[in-house]
Amino acid sequence: MSSTTPALLAQGISKTYPGGLRAVRDVDLAIERGQCLALVGQSGSGKSTLARCLLGVEPMDSGRVWLGADELTALSGETYRRRRARMQAVFQSATDSFNARLPLLTSVLEPLDCQPDVLRRRVEQAGGRRQLAEQLFERVDLPTTLLDRMPGRVSGGQLQRAAIARALSIEPELIVLDEPTASLDVSLQARILNLLKGLQEELQVSMLFITHDLAAARFVADRIVVMRQGQFIEEFPTQDLCADQRDPYTRELVNLFR
Ligand code: ADP
Ligand code: MG
Repeated sequence: MSSTTPALLAQGISKTYPGGLRAVRDVDLAIERGQCLALVGQSGSGKSTLARCLLGVEPMDSGRVWLGADELTALSGETYRRRRARMQAVFQSATDSFNARLPLLTSVLEPLDCQPDVLRRRVEQAGGRRQLAEQLFERVDLPTTLLDRMPGRVSGGQLQRAAIARALSIEPELIVLDEPTASLDVSLQARILNLLKGLQEELQVSMLFITHDLAAARFVADRIVVMRQGQFIEEFPTQDLCADQRDPYTRELVNLFR
C-alpha cells in the first residue's frame, strides 16, 4: 500500500432524510495517516449524519468511502464487516454504546471478535485476555479493577475512557469521535482531550474528531474542516484558524469562543 494513501477518503457523500432535509450535500473528505482532522460546525450542521454515513450505519443517497486502499462502499457481508472494524467510533454517550449487562472486561475486547487474527496476536503478546484488557485500561489511565464492573457502576468520564480503550483494542486505522466530551464537565473534558492528544502522539492513530467546540478542535487537531448546513465551508491547518483569509462563517464561530 502506498504511504500516500490517506487513512480515510470519502467522495461525494450526500444524505437526504425522509421528508427532504438534505443533511449532507456532496461532501469530500480526506484524512492523512496519523492526522487528526477536526470537523466543526454548529449544532444541526450535519456532522453526526456525515459520521454515520462514513461508518456505514446510515444509508446515503450517494458517495464512496475508502479506508486505506479498500473501498468500503464496494464491499458487503463479512468482508465489509471485517474491513469496516478497522475504523472505530466513540460517541457522546458512552452509556448507550456499552451493553449494561456485561462487565467492562467483556465489552472492551468486543471489537476484536470480528478480527480473530488480531485477537490471537494481541492476546498472545499480552499473555491472556485479561492482561490485554488491563493494558488497554492502563493506556487510558483507568484502574484495572474497573474491568470487573458493569457500565452502570462507573462514572461518565471513566466510561468514556473505557470506550476509547475499546476503540484502541483492535489497533484501529482510524477513530471517529463524535462529540466525545460534550456530556462531561469541563475538567473531565480537558482530561479526555489530553488523553486523545497523547494517544495521537504515541500511537499516530488517525482521527476524525467531531465537535461544536472550536477550542477543543484547536487543542487536538492538526487540521480543521468547517461544516455549515450540510456543506464544507473551508479546510485549513489548525494554526491558520485565526488567519486573515478565513471565511466569515469561520470567524463567527471563532468569535463565539472568545
Ligand atoms: P450535528 O451533528 O452537526 O448537530 P446532525 O447530523 O445531527 O447535525 O443533524 C443535521 C440535520 O439533520 C439537522 O437538521 C437534524 O435535525 C437532522 N437530522 C438528524 N438526524 C435525523 C434523523 N434521523 N431524521 C431526520 N432528520 C435528522
Ligand atoms: Mg452531532
